[in-house]
Amino acid sequence: GGGCYGNNTPPSTILVGDSGVGKTSLLVQFDQGKFIPGSFSATVGIGFTNKVLTVDELKVRLQIWDTAGQERFRSVTHAYYRDAWLTEIHEYAQDDVVIMLLGNKSDMTSARAIRREEGEKLAREYGVIFLETSAKTGLNVDEAFMTVAKELVRCS
Ligand code: GDP
Ligand code: MG
Repeated sequence: GGGCYGNNTPPSTILVGDSGVGKTSLLVQFDQGKFIPGSFSATVGIGFTNKVLTVDELKVRLQIWDTAGQERFRSVTHAYYRDAWLTEIHEYAQDDVVIMLLGNKSDMTSARAIRREEGEKLAREYGVIFLETSAKTGLNVDEAFMTVAKELVRCS
């Protein structure tokens, strides 16, 4: 997510989610167009990456932050709710935050943790956009960040 575009400060885009879901891999795939299997420590992220996307001839700079290890320091109470991340986003982000739910590792067809329909249902419930991605094959990775950029432009 990130706040609406249009003022002088570029919106921060933050990847949040449990350790091991593929946040760092998604960012590396988006930034470098490649998948480096199993090479990231769960607690060491790559910090942030700046990317400029063009939406309707408007250049949108995304500063994308990769969270890492903070999972361990989150408040214990939050950690028990399935919508823990959403709660924290609403707690700390601006009201006009753009939120997207990504179901990553969609290439692992035989070992799915979440069915697509479950992801879609959850997204509908929360009123957020949903996409299934794969940091491995690159499926929907560019699309995911582009969707955020479009939303940021749209709401400004
Ligand atoms: P993070 O802790 O959320 O940053 O997760 P990582 O990016 O470190 O990924 C955790 C593990 O899942 C690593 O072994 C990755 O190679 C693997 N992984 C990440 N994304 C995908 C994906 O889309 N498909 C598959 N098959 N593996 C993935
Ligand atoms: Mg990581």
